[in-house]
Parts: sequence; C-alpha cells; structure tokens
Amino acid sequence: MITRRDFLRLSTLFSGAALAGGSFAGGRSPGAVGRAEGPLVISTWDFGQAANAAAWGILAQGGTALDAVEAGARVPEADPENQSVGLGGRPDRDGHVTLDACIMDAKGRCGSVAALEHIVHAVSVARAVMERTPHVMLAGEGALQFALEQGFAKHDLLTEKSRREWQEWLKEARYRPVPNIENALPGGGRNHDTIGILAVDAAGDLGGACTTSGLAYKRHGRVGDSPIIGAGLYVDNGVGAATATGVGEEVVRIVGSHTVVERMRAGDTPEEACKQALERILRLGPKAWRDVQVGFLALRRDGVVGAYALQDGFTYAVRSGPVDEVRRAPHLL
Ligand code: ASP
Repeated sequence: MITRRDFLRLSTLFSGAALAGGSFAGGRSPGAVGRAEGPLVISTWDFGQAANAAAWGILAQGGTALDAVEAGARVPEADPENQSVGLGGRPDRDGHVTLDACIMDAKGRCGSVAALEHIVHAVSVARAVMERTPHVMLAGEGALQFALEQGFAKHDLLTEKSRREWQEWLKEARYRPVPNIENALPGGGRNHDTIGILAVDAAGDLGGACTTSGLAYKRHGRVGDSPIIGAGLYVDNGVGAATATGVGEEVVRIVGSHTVVERMRAGDTPEEACKQALERILRLGPKAWRDVQVGFLALRRDGVVGAYALQDGFTYAVRSGPVDEVRRAPHLL
C-alpha cells in the first residue's frame, strides 16, 4: 500500500524527471530529448521575419532566448503599419487600442499585461511585471499605472489609418472575426496580427513571448488568449515551448499552448502536438468552424519545430542562421 508520504516522494521524483526532459507518468515515454545544436527562433505569420531578424541579432552573439524574444516582439509593436500589434493596432469597438502581451523564460518565470492602453511595448511591460513585481499579470488601469511608474512613455496608439477603418466599421458594426486576417493584404497594405515568438539560445535555454492588440473591434475590456500563460504561450525548459494565434476564446478553452507542451512531453512531435490541441478544440464544437482560425506553433527543446492550424493560410518564420525560412502550416479543415 502506498502511504501519503510515498506518494509525495514519487510525485517529486516524477516532476523532476519531467523537468529534465525524462519520462512522463501516464503517457507514452518520449525518452530524453536532447538539447538543440544551436540557437533558433521561430515566430507566427510571415511578418515574423523582421522579428526573427532582431531576435537573431541577440542569439547569434550568445544572448539569452529571453532577450531575443523580447527584442523580436518589439519589432511589430513599434510598426505603425502592423494593425494588430502595438502602435497602429486596430481598436476595440469603442475606439480604444488595448494590448495583451506576455513573456516566459527558461526558469518558468512569467509576466503578463492585459488590456493595456497607451504603451507601445506591452511585451517589455510584461517583462517588467515578471522581473520587478511579485505578480504574474497586471490588467487595465493598474497595468498602465505600473508602466508609467517604470518609465514607459505614454502614446496615442490609434493611428489615423486604424481610426478611419474603425469609423467605417462603425457604420455597420457587425462583429465577425475574419480568418487569416493576419496575412491578408487588403488594398495592398499589410494586415498582420498576433506575434508569438519562441527561441532556444546557445546555452540550450528556451524563452517565449506573445503580443497583440487582440481581435479588431472586440468589446471594450475583452481579453484574449495572448496574455494568459498556458493559453497564448507556454515554456517548459525540459520539454519545449508553444504559442498560439487566432481566435483567443477557442485557445483559452483548452489552455492551448500548455496543452501543446504537455503533448510534446508525452512523446508527440511538435507538429502532432499542435494538431492534437486543435482536435481538442473541434471536439468542443459544433460551430461554424469555417469562420474560425486558430494556429499553434511549437518548438521542442532539441530544436525540432512544428505547427498546425484549423484553416489553410497560417504561416510562420524559422531562423537558425542569417536567413529566414517561411513555412506554411498544415491544416485540419
Ligand atoms: N489571439 C489573438 C486574440 O484572440 C488574436 C489573433 O491572434 O488573431 O486576441
């Protein structure tokens, strides 16, 4: 008979093995997953290339995955042409640009901000929450107050272009997320969305970040998956990391990125893990899935990369040298 003390001792042993990339109680045994041969960075959508380039500048010099993913995420945040991240992001239905972001490192430390207004680099505020407070997540007014106290500058994030489009939208005001809006090119302009970025550094440590202005014309106060640790992003240094893009409500329902990492711990390849998570979402249906895009992107600690999406059209950028490779994820529907 197993006593409570035995049980606690065994649980500790099992979680230690899991952290070391070892066996998994109750699942297929993946065997030990080795570490990556060299640094690598991946990010969601084809605009991830510019983000990867910034991250690579840090990784190639022996910098940490944490610094690299923050630097990468800051690129689309500062780009006023990118209408779903940071400056220039599409507003909510009341005209407020509200940002969601989070970051997580190899030690399992994490920080996040939700519904943050007026600050361009939400990902850096998330990092400050992680490093300078005892908390994980700050939201709304409190997040803004903290950012200002930390010296972040206050900006109007609503660009003229995003304001004009919002005013057009108000004429009809019919809320409906558009699948693959991230890679659509309306009028030749760029129309990208959430960036999730994952990296492994030269020391073999992982880091991840995720930042977005969320679904365009959402209800004021709506928070998506992107700032929720486990949903929009999850990093486990002994296994791998995952991030999500698409309709956040669907991702939150299955704690998507954590699910992907746990599937990898159980022995699934990164691609299979992403597919399994999407199948879990579909099982929660029925729904008009044709109107819904969700994509997962995963990086195993040994540098193997995989992705899967509900719909065709989810692209991601991979960099392990001076040039990016843009890949198109397989899809379920
Ligand atoms: N996942 C983001 C959200 O739900 C949006 C997106 O990636 O398209 O806020």
